[in-house]
Amino acid sequence: MNDSLFFASFDPLFCEAPDACELCDASLPIFQYEYCTQNQNNERQYLKGFCCAACAAQLLQKLKRSEAREWAEEEIALRADDMDVTEFRRRRLAAFRDEEPARQHAGTAPARATRG
Ligand SMILES: [Zn+2]
Repeated sequence: MNDSLFFASFDPLFCEAPDACELCDASLPIFQYEYCTQNQNNERQYLKGFCCAACAAQLLQKLKRSEAREWAEEEIALRADDMDVTEFRRRRLAAFRDEEPARQHAGTAPARATRG
């Protein structure tokens, strides 16, 4: 499952961009965006449109949360296969230290880190 997010600028004089961001309906759009999600059956779903800078940042955060979830699930799968996840876990926690994937995965919370 590989999600993707693309942004592009557009020329407001030669593009039929809406007068308001299509996500928040509050600010003028400055980007065209395409957010693609891929499910476990490799089916892709596209979300496209025009968005403002604030919503662009939110889309990026959404992609980050999705990636944090993916890495957490990967760690659980590796651990279930008795793989050494020490380095992977260190990297995941460093990369997503402000994310809390355990909250989004009730029932599959990753084990607590052990010190020593
Ligand atoms: Zn917006």
